[in-house]
Amino acid sequence: MKIYLDGNLVDSAEAKISVFDHGLLYGDGIFEGIRLYGGNVFRLDEHLERLEYSAKAILLKLPWSRKEISDAICATCRANGLTDGYIRLVVTRGVGDLGLSPWLCPKPSIFIIADKIALYPKEHYEKGLEIVTVATRRMNPAALSPAIKSLNYLNNIMAKIEARQAGALEAIMLNDQGLVAECTGDNIFIVHKGRILTPSAQQGALQGITRDTIFAIAKEIGVAIEEHDMTRYDVWNADEVFLTGTGAEVIPVVKLDGREIGDAKPGPVFAKVLAAFRRRVLVEGTRI
Ligand code: PMP
Repeated sequence: MKIYLDGNLVDSAEAKISVFDHGLLYGDGIFEGIRLYGGNVFRLDEHLERLEYSAKAILLKLPWSRKEISDAICATCRANGLTDGYIRLVVTRGVGDLGLSPWLCPKPSIFIIADKIALYPKEHYEKGLEIVTVATRRMNPAALSPAIKSLNYLNNIMAKIEARQAGALEAIMLNDQGLVAECTGDNIFIVHKGRILTPSAQQGALQGITRDTIFAIAKEIGVAIEEHDMTRYDVWNADEVFLTGTGAEVIPVVKLDGREIGDAKPGPVFAKVLAAFRRRVLVEGTRI
């Protein structure tokens, strides 16, 4: 496998970064997970815009243009003969000393991995996921904005561990007000009385690219959609629940905390959304 690392395509065994890189020492860096469908990179501009916003938010000046990064992504996919897969784009603060100071890291590093991904076993896409609510709260946006897709994912990993201990593959994370924020690596949507609802970024949700796509799809299929505060009560009483993410795509949820949602089967709104999503990913995208 070829990895793009700081301007070169190198073998994966040669793709190494320094132990003094602050991405490793402190999680000081940012990333994007991007999807490749049928030779088209899905919503590449949106991902690169989010990367630029994340970079600006952590005062990391990207020394590469959007075009240079976009070309590097396409080149990495081509070098690996990939037409369908998952692209991980990572920018680290770069090599510094053992102090926190990002000012002592003069040169950020960039690397790109393009590979296959299967986030959840196939049967869950047909039968639905059973998820739980975990005690680990989503970090307060005043401590670290969830809009920054940073390399520091311990908050989510702690929640993922809790989910796994409870026998679930994904978990709802509440914010510090007790409102539903999102899942450990996915956004959450509920369907209630024909409307699709999802928590806002202010409640701790990452503004997912797939989430944005669901807003466009809802418009296309004529279903009302809005951001709405929600508690677990709203999820328990939803007719349908589904999750979205670049890795997960769109996946139905049929149980929360052992309680059945709706009739415990993937619902009709989910089915329509999924069909529209499948159509969209093949036509919307940047040709590699
Ligand atoms: N929330 C979190 C915490 C995530 O890490 C992700 C990405 N895996 C998402 C939501 C979904 O975002 P996107 O659709 O942009 O992948």
